[in-house]
Amino acid sequence: KITCLADKTVVIGLAADSGCGKSTFMRRLTSVFGGAAEPPRGGNPDSNTLISDTTTVICLDDYHSLDRTGRKEKGVKAIKDGIAVEKPIYNHRVRDLLDFSIYLDISNEVKFAWKIQRDMAERGHSLESIKASIEARKPDFEAYIDPQKQYADAVIEVLPTQLIPDDNEGKILRVRLIMKEGVKYFSPVYLFDEGSTISWIPCGRKLTCSYPGIKFFYGPESYFGHEVSVLEMDGQFDRLDELIYVESHLSSLSTKFYGEVTQQMLKHADFPGSNNGTGLFQTITGLKIRDLYEQIIASKAAAPLEASKA
Ligand code: ADP
Repeated sequence: KITCLADKTVVIGLAADSGCGKSTFMRRLTSVFGGAAEPPRGGNPDSNTLISDTTTVICLDDYHSLDRTGRKEKGVKAIKDGIAVEKPIYNHRVRDLLDFSIYLDISNEVKFAWKIQRDMAERGHSLESIKASIEARKPDFEAYIDPQKQYADAVIEVLPTQLIPDDNEGKILRVRLIMKEGVKYFSPVYLFDEGSTISWIPCGRKLTCSYPGIKFFYGPESYFGHEVSVLEMDGQFDRLDELIYVESHLSSLSTKFYGEVTQQMLKHADFPGSNNGTGLFQTITGLKIRDLYEQIIASKAAAPLEASKA
């Protein structure tokens, strides 16, 4: 039974500061895998929740309370072996087990704008208390969370727009999907021509754009010494159904049919970030992860002996 499960277990890591879109990303990912996009009613979406037959979300925030030895003893190997893990996970060892990892890198300006929107507009907190809570988290964030991005296979970087000079509203976003080259089972998405450097303004006859418009960029770059491909979108969509026009110009999307990215975006139009690059790149990353999952499972099935020895 265990071996059987082990042949089907793929572990994906997702890291970001709190309130930076992890749950939203997981909901998009689970949906791509064909599972329910919602955690069970009444359940804490951040906790160790079984979401569907194919995907399980394990939140490492739950593991802080366990001491290091405890976590080490219980070991993390259990996840990899497909055993239902009860708890402890030893954080620093988790990285080695991941088949793929993602980091959501929200710039300070945008993080602040999101917190204000949520905590001030929706929860009635004061500006001062929001500032203070961000400041209070900073040392832990800088010590334990932020350094993870250099190890990630894909990073979604969220920055203020460059389309409006000196914008500090944090409403229009410039989002960069940074994809590491040379990762097994993962081929970066590209725009028009793989490896070229391209700037594209799709607004016009086929895409409705109001001020300040939409601008895409694609090209090779270096990220913490790694070769990466970067796909960038600045601005936001007016009409989500027109996204099909953008989708038709992207390659290596790992869709199962033409228009799947647009369909997923329309399906979850109510999720935060659906009208900009955050939603688009989370959706695309979800599709790439499904592809990676299928390839890993297929390779394990083809060489069961090799897989069980490793
Ligand atoms: P986490 O799981 O990391 O705490 P969530 O996915 O629950 O984050 O998102 C927390 C809040 O942050 C959302 O309710 C929303 O207010 C804001 N948020 C998250 N992602 C986005 C986005 N892409 N665009 C705008 N706001 C967002």
